[in-house]
Amino acid sequence: MSAEPAPLPAHHVLILGGTTEARRLAEALAAAPSGRVTTSLAGRVASPVLPPGGTRVGGFGGVEGLAAWIVAHDVTHVVDATHPFAERMSFNAAGAAALTGVPLLALRRPGWTPRPGDDWTFVDSLDEAADRLPGLGSRAFLTTGRMGLHTFAHLTDTWFLVRSVDPPAAPAPPCLEVLLARGPFTLEDERELLARHRIDVVVTKDSGGSATAPKLTAAREAGIPVLVVRRPPVPQGVPEADSVDAVLDWLGTSR
Ligand code: NAP
Repeated sequence: MSAEPAPLPAHHVLILGGTTEARRLAEALAAAPSGRVTTSLAGRVASPVLPPGGTRVGGFGGVEGLAAWIVAHDVTHVVDATHPFAERMSFNAAGAAALTGVPLLALRRPGWTPRPGDDWTFVDSLDEAADRLPGLGSRAFLTTGRMGLHTFAHLTDTWFLVRSVDPPAAPAPPCLEVLLARGPFTLEDERELLARHRIDVVVTKDSGGSATAPKLTAAREAGIPVLVVRRPPVPQGVPEADSVDAVLDWLGTSR
């Protein structure tokens, strides 16, 4: 017979969200009897899937705004569960934790690593991806999100399949088809997508996780090169967890 986990001490956890992991953490904490959870979303997605527990939407107003919110709402713990490319918010969280003294943990899923048969080119930015793209293919599957699409707008000789949750805004490349979709995606669907659109290069951020990884397997199988944008730097000195369970352990032992 397995022992019941010890109940968490009283808490108000602020989750900086926008990821699958953030939602899973909110689900786990909302089921815990001894405290509160609030998930914060930036408000980029028009109809977000809201997690259980409290939610708030929109920026805080930088480090000071976030610190003020933490104090005003008696937050006991902050979990930075933002996307690995939400660089500014992670630094804001570190700054606000330093100002308030409230413990901060970063929930970061591991990045992807190439396997035998993969043809990946790592780049440091979307700008570098746009520079390298014409040398790799002419029909690109772009999965880097609608916000950075303007970076590719000058590529007039490349046809793009752009997949995003909400429609992208101009400026955008002239030859493109937009596919509105929200992960997770299956390997079967990704294979079919690459074949149907005669994709010959894939562009992705190193987001990690399983929800959007099947495109990488499909590209490997089809011998299609992938441009992978490396993750931005993270703030120094912030402890990290790579799973929801590890965050729950941390909540049970900190403070
Ligand atoms: P960012 O560049 O790091 O943040 C820009 C500003 O947006 C922040 O300074 C903050 O405004 C506000 N913000 C960001 N995340 C927030 C949150 N969870 N709650 C409240 N305000 C937030 O972030 P981003 O790259 O634009 O990403 C925005 C959101 O989309 C994040 O929550 C992230 O998890 C999610 N997301 C991002 C990507 C990506 O590729 N970047 C992909 C999937 C999901 P204030 O300074 O005013 O507080």
